[in-house]
Amino acid sequence: MTFKALLIEKDDAGYRAGIKTLDDDNLPEGDVTVRVDYSTINYKDGLAITGKSPVVRKFPLVAGIDFAGTVESSSHAAWKPGDRVVLNGWGVGETHSGGLAQRARVRGDWLVALPAGLSTRQAMAIGTAGYTAMLCVMALQGHGLKPDSGDILVTGANGGVGSVAIALLSKLGYRVLASTGRLNEADALKALGAAEVIDRAELSSPGKPLAKERWAGTVDSVGSHTLANACAGTKYRGAVAACGLAQGMDFPGSVAPFILRGITLYGIDSVMAPKALREQAWARLAKDLDLAKLDGLVQEVPLAAAIAAGSDILAGKIRGRLVVDVNA
Ligand code: NDP
Repeated sequence: MTFKALLIEKDDAGYRAGIKTLDDDNLPEGDVTVRVDYSTINYKDGLAITGKSPVVRKFPLVAGIDFAGTVESSSHAAWKPGDRVVLNGWGVGETHSGGLAQRARVRGDWLVALPAGLSTRQAMAIGTAGYTAMLCVMALQGHGLKPDSGDILVTGANGGVGSVAIALLSKLGYRVLASTGRLNEADALKALGAAEVIDRAELSSPGKPLAKERWAGTVDSVGSHTLANACAGTKYRGAVAACGLAQGMDFPGSVAPFILRGITLYGIDSVMAPKALREQAWARLAKDLDLAKLDGLVQEVPLAAAIAAGSDILAGKIRGRLVVDVNA
């Protein structure tokens, strides 16, 4: 059977992404074959499609770090044809062919059952970005932060992680401070649930080791000085959940907030997160996310447009979430 896929190739002719027609012999090893409905463009997909960072480490490889679809065949005990599934990470789209394709083959242990109440399109509107936002929120809640603990700062507010984090936190009753470089989107961020919108320039330059205590917690998808300033402005015994590097991979901070204010920095990894945590995160997303608000965050593109979208997300041109209909 043939299928369309966004293939990354690297050889003497260079690094390139193209839409190709493949057949089942091109599918990688795995015990479950999935008919993909939707995939997405996450920041990491942008890095993979453009080749700006060495995300793809095996060639040729189908891009796409996540997908949602229906099991077509399975020799794994947990899955049977017709099951609706979602996949995030595990090296898919990096070392194992991924979700920007009409068909995918993976290990059954990597799959999560789509929670009741979520369509495959909604699952990819959430995508790895939204699932990671949930992991961040769960880390802050697990730390003991409650709505009356204080504000929660969300950086990269118009991005995928940031926008889903705002929707989740506001529905859970937290007061959200949204940091963005796109102040023209302030009204949209408020409609999503932000109580206040601040200019990311306030946080993106070198700051003091300790700043005024402004927030109890942070969901940070930006890294670099922004993460350092998020830590410096955290209230006594507050917490920061760090998951991203949109500004940079560096962490030019000080130990002062840790040793003088007892703050905690949680590292959030979605790729190798244990299955039980994933299942919990997806169940929470089905329950705690306002799906009408999620709809407002989504742009949908066909597979052929995914290559250009990969550059757009790195250029900060995508607001919210970009869903890819791999069958369009
Ligand atoms: P998006 O591109 O959708 O969002 C990133 C946002 O960061 C942008 O929309 C922008 O928000 C802000 N931003 C971009 N450039 C800068 C800059 N130079 N300085 C400050 N802010 C900036 O990406 P995603 O939401 O998909 O991913 C966000 C980050 O999280 C990425 O680094 C990604 O790799 C990481 N990530 C990590 C995961 C993990 O497992 N740890 C999983 C998923 C994502 P605005 O316009 O509002 O300022």
